[in-house]
Amino acid sequence: MATQTVETSAPSTRNGTDNVLELRKVTKVFGGGLLRRTTTIAVDDVSLGIPRENPGIIAVAGESGSGKTTLARLMLGIIPPTEGAIYFNGRDIATLPRRDRREFRREVQPIMQDPFEVYNPFYKVDHVMMSPVQNFGLARSKSEARDLVIESLETVGLRHQETLGRFPHQLSGGQRQRIMVARALLLKPRIIVADEPVSMVDASLRATILGSIDLLNKELGIAVIYITHDLTTAFQISDNIIVMYQGSVVETGRVEDVIQNPQHPYTQLLVESIPRPNPNERWGRDMASQETGGDMTNSGCRFAPRCPYAMTECTAEMPPLYRVGDTQAALCYLHRDASLGNVESISDVFKISD
Ligand code: SF4
Repeated sequence: MATQTVETSAPSTRNGTDNVLELRKVTKVFGGGLLRRTTTIAVDDVSLGIPRENPGIIAVAGESGSGKTTLARLMLGIIPPTEGAIYFNGRDIATLPRRDRREFRREVQPIMQDPFEVYNPFYKVDHVMMSPVQNFGLARSKSEARDLVIESLETVGLRHQETLGRFPHQLSGGQRQRIMVARALLLKPRIIVADEPVSMVDASLRATILGSIDLLNKELGIAVIYITHDLTTAFQISDNIIVMYQGSVVETGRVEDVIQNPQHPYTQLLVESIPRPNPNERWGRDMASQETGGDMTNSGCRFAPRCPYAMTECTAEMPPLYRVGDTQAALCYLHRDASLGNVESISDVFKISD
């Protein structure tokens, strides 16, 4: 974990782009208290900006324990960083006054992995959809509220006649997940953080749900952070990708560059593992069991114990994120000599979406 000083002033623009959300040198460490002596670096020194204009879809890919879900929770303000700061519209979210915090909660919306966890089985869909309308005062009358809900449902391809008035168990998995998208949409967010939104639906529904998420970005200009363990869907819908391993961003950039020409040995391993001959075997399954987050005692590259190219320096100090092209960077000493410089913020190598 790098020890760095974080500025408290409003963050500067990057690439001439004004950021809605910006993570600056964010690190999250778990453990280390009286009850749990061991510490784990779940997210290590991540800087990233989500631009206000043309934000695109950013995939955060990695296996269980890579830190991708912790990164999502940090972005949503569910957990605070151990080091570094997160800015919303240029202001540190840790010090936002109550009213501005409410605006942050409205504009940065989650879509959760398992819609069952979100739904109360005793409430109809109407309740799920009406709660944010009431909580955030989005409508002046009941009929206006109902119109808003119907419009949101239709935007994600759901018919209100087939969803309102029903209990969660009366809907398919795909309908439940799309209702979550519609619910997030009600609040007209600037950013949606979707945590494995298609991992619990079958292949036939996956395309429909991913289509809804794509539409939010392309038609409504909402930034989407797509958290996934699946490189195939990341490639399908995202503009840029962040690959994480044990809390570190090991490779990032334009999705086509990273998937078609991976520059970090870990990404190369992941890409080589798809497609698998057995469709029931999930991508990277055998790697998942080995990932438990970064060890505080390991100051070098976390991938070194498994890397076929490991050198002496790899275990001594963490490499920087080397720029390996206009829209690609890798955290690996193999690129030290040919590097185009070090990358400070991950989004500095992002392709700006049209
Ligand atoms: Fe392998 Fe060294 Fe690169 Fe880490 S820094 S991925 S150990 S070559």
